[in-house]
Amino acid sequence: MIAGGGIVGAMTAMELVGRGCRVTIVERGQIASQTSGESSWAGGGIVFPLLPWMYGDAVNQLTNYGMKVYPAIYERLKEETGVDGELLQSGMLILPQFDREQARAWCERYEFAAQSASAAAFGLQSPSGDDALWLPGVSQARPPYVMQAMRKWLEQNGVTLLERTELKPLAGSGSLHEWETVGGEKLQADKFVVTSGAWSFDLLKETASKLKIKPMRGQILLYRPRQNLQHMVYREGFYMIPRQDGLLLAGSTLEDVGFDPRVTETARDELSAKAETIMPELKGLPILKHWAGLRPGTPENLPTIAAHPQIENLYLNTGHFRYGLTMAPASAKIVSALICGEQPFIDPTPFSCPV
Ligand SMILES: Cc1cc2nc3c(=O)[nH]c(=O)nc-3n(C[C@H](O)[C@H](O)[C@H](O)COP(=O)(O)OP(=O)(O)OC[C@H]3O[C@@H](n4cnc5c(N)ncnc54)[C@H](O)[C@@H]3O)c2cc1C
Repeated sequence: MIAGGGIVGAMTAMELVGRGCRVTIVERGQIASQTSGESSWAGGGIVFPLLPWMYGDAVNQLTNYGMKVYPAIYERLKEETGVDGELLQSGMLILPQFDREQARAWCERYEFAAQSASAAAFGLQSPSGDDALWLPGVSQARPPYVMQAMRKWLEQNGVTLLERTELKPLAGSGSLHEWETVGGEKLQADKFVVTSGAWSFDLLKETASKLKIKPMRGQILLYRPRQNLQHMVYREGFYMIPRQDGLLLAGSTLEDVGFDPRVTETARDELSAKAETIMPELKGLPILKHWAGLRPGTPENLPTIAAHPQIENLYLNTGHFRYGLTMAPASAKIVSALICGEQPFIDPTPFSCPV
């Protein structure tokens, strides 16, 4: 039984089905939609950890694996469900300021293509200098479509989706045989996996009190420029993502405001000012949509992917913070190996559950 039907829960289910397990996902809301700030629907969909050189090896192992396998996952989802997650290698231009030396060293270490580039040659304004870095290998996907494809695949492959079913926080120790819902139902399973994103600590605070996961809100704006960008652009914590249908995302904020999924005027002004600095032609254009999601925030962006150290049958796959879409294939594979008693393909020690 998987507690939470975001990208991490869905990908974990897919991996477990591939190993012959019978799987149920229990989801408080509805899989592939957003009711109260769920993160997976809301993300930008960049299959890359923005500035990977800022992160440790453990994070890079997860994100690099995701970058490598997404094309095959998307092809499979598209072929088997008919839903196109719109994976596109559109590349990313990084505008100054950024640590050029660290960037160069990372690209060399991981043999990731990188070229010096001029922002002006891409038709962009870059107030902190024209000397940009072009990363042609960076891909994007469209999270709501990816989630729709995953949902359809799970239904087609016999996964039970128990939606609008909220689990109560876990109490007790020893082994776990059933988990009570807010409606009073007792759901039984042989093994349980927590993939409840930002809400994971709420579910586990009595059984994993040292788990450090908290909601970190992110807001995004949507435009339709007269002439869209051809590539993703990043500048000092802010990014723009052009979609194939002419839409343009501008995001995102990083806010420590608890479980508040609302959008704010302050963020709207801040994001539109940043977008207009890079693309002055956005001035005066309507903002078509403005949304927010609650990321499962963790120190150093490091998720917990582990068996619970005391509760037999309980596993965690949660806390993917800013890069859950990118990390989900690796973390689903690791937790599934642990559940099935196999050796994970990556040493899982850095992702163990604090007690
Ligand atoms: C603005 C923004 C931009 C982002 N951009 C990117 C990006 O470009 N690239 C990238 O890789 N990542 C990005 N992310 C991060 C990524 O979206 C998250 O890391 C990822 O979605 C986390 O997935 P999850 O399944 O753990 O969480 P969620 O998608 O939040 O899913 C958790 C699920 O658990 C359910 N749940 C919670 N409590 C209960 C309960 N008690 N009972 C039953 N169900 C419960 C919730 O309803 C929810 O559906 C972005 C996130 C945001 C907000």
